[in-house]
Amino acid sequence: MDRNKLLFPNGNPRNGAPDAFANGCETIIFEGAERRVGRDPRAMSVAELNAVGHFGPVLRAIRQNCIDCQGGAEAEVRRCALVWCPMWPYRMAANPFHRVTLSDEQREERRQRLEAARTRKAANP
Ligand code: SF4
Repeated sequence: MDRNKLLFPNGNPRNGAPDAFANGCETIIFEGAERRVGRDPRAMSVAELNAVGHFGPVLRAIRQNCIDCQGGAEAEVRRCALVWCPMWPYRMAANPFHRVTLSDEQREERRQRLEAARTRKAANP
């Protein structure tokens, strides 16, 4: 599989969008000299973050970081043995500290909700 597609499913700002870097950075004066630094994401709108190539879910971002860390090999992320890494518990794009036991009815209800959300999203891309 194309590594860029794995890492940046919505497009790699490093390749196709040089403006993305410009939009994600700002110039500050540091110790009397101009310096290019990353903008504070807390001060950016969602549209600005999207334009730089970030689309939200933290667990997905961690997963993408792990795939990048393992040279693009998804299987190696699963096998990662660096258990002291802060990302390690989340590398499979799930939060093991937040486990929910669902009944069959709850599972079905959530499945239907997800399906409805996907249908809405497909209708309004
Ligand atoms: S858990 Fe840490 S060391 Fe392992 S793949 Fe993810 S970022 Fe890399």
